[in-house]
Amino acid sequence: MGLLALGTALDWPDAKQQAHLVRAWGIKQLLEIWNKAKGKERDIMLWGDEIEYLVVNYSKDDPKVLLSLRQADILKALADSNTLKVTGDCAPGTEANGDAGNVTLPIFHPEFGRFMLEATPGKPWGIDFKDLLTVEADMKLRRCIAKDHMLPNEHPITLTTFPRIGSPGVFTEPSYPVSGPKLRSQFVPDEIANPHIRFPTLAANIRSRRGRKVQVNVPVFRDENTPWPWKDPTVNHDLHNWPEDDDVRNGAAPNNFIHMDAMAFGMGSCCLQITFQAKNITEGRKMYDQLSPLGPILLALTAATPVYKGFLADTDVRWNQISRAVDDRTPEELGEKPLKNDRWRIPKSRYASNSTYISTDSRLRPEYMDPNLVIDPEIKQQLLDGGMDDRLATHFAHLFIRDPIVIFNEDLQELDLTKTDHFENIQSTNWQHMRFKPPPADNSIGWRVEFRPMEIQITDFENAAFSVFIVLITRAILSFDLNFYIPIVKVDENMETAHARNANLEKKFWFRKNPFPVRTTRRGGSASRSASGASTPNHGPSRPTTPPLGPVEDEYRLMSVNEVINGTAYAKATSKEVTEDAEEGEEFPGLIPLVESYLDSVNMDVATRCGLARYLDLIRKRASGELWTAAKWIREFIAKHPEYKKDSVVSEEITKDLVGAVIQIGEREKRGLGIDDLIGQVPDLEKLFGGFLKGKSPCGGGQAALEQELKD
Ligand code: ADP
Ligand code: MG
Ligand code: MG
Ligand code: MG
Ligand code: MG
Ligand code: MG
Repeated sequence: MGLLALGTALDWPDAKQQAHLVRAWGIKQLLEIWNKAKGKERDIMLWGDEIEYLVVNYSKDDPKVLLSLRQADILKALADSNTLKVTGDCAPGTEANGDAGNVTLPIFHPEFGRFMLEATPGKPWGIDFKDLLTVEADMKLRRCIAKDHMLPNEHPITLTTFPRIGSPGVFTEPSYPVSGPKLRSQFVPDEIANPHIRFPTLAANIRSRRGRKVQVNVPVFRDENTPWPWKDPTVNHDLHNWPEDDDVRNGAAPNNFIHMDAMAFGMGSCCLQITFQAKNITEGRKMYDQLSPLGPILLALTAATPVYKGFLADTDVRWNQISRAVDDRTPEELGEKPLKNDRWRIPKSRYASNSTYISTDSRLRPEYMDPNLVIDPEIKQQLLDGGMDDRLATHFAHLFIRDPIVIFNEDLQELDLTKTDHFENIQSTNWQHMRFKPPPADNSIGWRVEFRPMEIQITDFENAAFSVFIVLITRAILSFDLNFYIPIVKVDENMETAHARNANLEKKFWFRKNPFPVRTTRRGGSASRSASGASTPNHGPSRPTTPPLGPVEDEYRLMSVNEVINGTAYAKATSKEVTEDAEEGEEFPGLIPLVESYLDSVNMDVATRCGLARYLDLIRKRASGELWTAAKWIREFIAKHPEYKKDSVVSEEITKDLVGAVIQIGEREKRGLGIDDLIGQVPDLEKLFGGFLKGKSPCGGGQAALEQELKD
């Protein structure tokens, strides 16, 4: 979560007075690091993931599962180096002497929710393909160590959201009354947030700047017995504790929406993020741009969020809910009132899909940019005067339209150019689906790019699979100089599309038709396409031609997730819910075939290739619909539960059984056991995992044998 400096946090009216100063100093710090680091070369390829957990309090004998609010105690236990050891239980296959051996111990971080935990690898991964196969074991190790520092009934789980957060009654341990002064929520207590002053201040100042509570409304899923129109039965219209209690009387809770009113409903969600270090700034800027259009596709493919506040939602992913949960825009900025005190209308929340492309790539056409991008022209001018190029200056001048939300008085004494705190203040509260991370003030590491849209998956096998896939597609992008550009506003549109129930199977997304760097003289769809439908980049003798560019609209079309991931031929053979309508010559090769072409082009032993195949296979099958997303599996779990009354209500008992199933899956995975014994007990596990968690790898032998082989 960026920096966690201690000090006196300013309330919004005071913070607002200092916003201009923080921005001005932030820009000076940015220029300082830009001048220091713009020519940085030959940084090595490194990458790392972030896994976020919910901590639940679960016991078979208790009627309820609760969120544990012991984050601080758990982190304290984890930070104590004397106890942070890899025990025999957490390291199957190593000597059970309690020693970490040569394992790099993971790093645990606080998160917004007091019921959350984040874990990253002890050090970033390198370029070695074998590293890609240690990620899964490392993720399991992190989960295991985390569990070892919890109470017997506490479990780290990777559901994106707790199904009954904010439901009436008790849902945390310990429990607190609602309507605290910071959040002023009628559903969750202030104690739900990490008590470090940064977090409650963030929530309170967002609310205060906005002039009312955040409004997180999710369409409810209409089932057979759902009353219609549906009124969220948990909303109280008669509270008079805070001025903000008027919000619901002023229409904040419309019919047919699950209504939530606090930052915790969004920032209490767990996601899977991947950060890459580029060899230099040019490569970093290219990675940022090329990964941008993949964001919505991966959001839809990792969908895992079908329940909010005890009700089934009509959407499958968390994104918009987080966006609304931190939307600090005023009525003027939202366009609800004429501009008087504020500087501009702002079309998106500070948590949103990114609005800029930043690469120096000549293939970046002006038409891809957002014609309505809001920037701060003064800031842009300062950056240009400081030597930054127009494109990157535009990017930061866009991020800097926002106010800093949390300001510590102690940091306003004098500008310190050996720090980047003021820059990071604005940068780290622009929660976009891509983040371009400049080196830190000491310039010790390189330019990094973070890929942020993915939902956390239930198992570490899946989390490793998606992490590895993103790494490999990045390698393929750089190796083949792939081009995924489409207008950035089409990426926004795709982000909305990704929210629909079953978007991964039933919706279509704008995607670039031809991802290859130059147009080859390919007419009639013949060149470089193998019989299997997979194609390889054309390095053949056909002379590349660069015809004049046609209209931008001709460069992209609508595709299913299946088509984007697996390619047109595979999608045509497997898609059930949508028709694949590629024209002659418009067949898309598919991201997985592109990754496979890349793997074919590098030297790799069979075991490594086999291990990677296991991950690619999961993604292939999720994209084709052969396997379900977690969102679909959770929906089916609820639908089949004897307690479910087809009325969209996810009761305490259903929640307990769902979380119980997730814990059981996790326990078996951690111990390297298959889930065979759960099949039959827990519905539809084969639909979620296929044969992947049966303790076997597709190359024969068990996963343990594969891991052993890789060690040797
Ligand atoms: P944030 O929360 O700001 O995104 P974190 O420190 O939680 O940042 O996580 C960033 C991820 O980046 C971690 O997985 C970490 O291992 C990884 N990482 C750290 N240093 C580098 C680097 N030089 N290059 C690439 N990744 C890195
Ligand atoms: Mg985090
Ligand atoms: Mg982090
Ligand atoms: Mg963070
Ligand atoms: Mg988070
Ligand atoms: Mg991050």
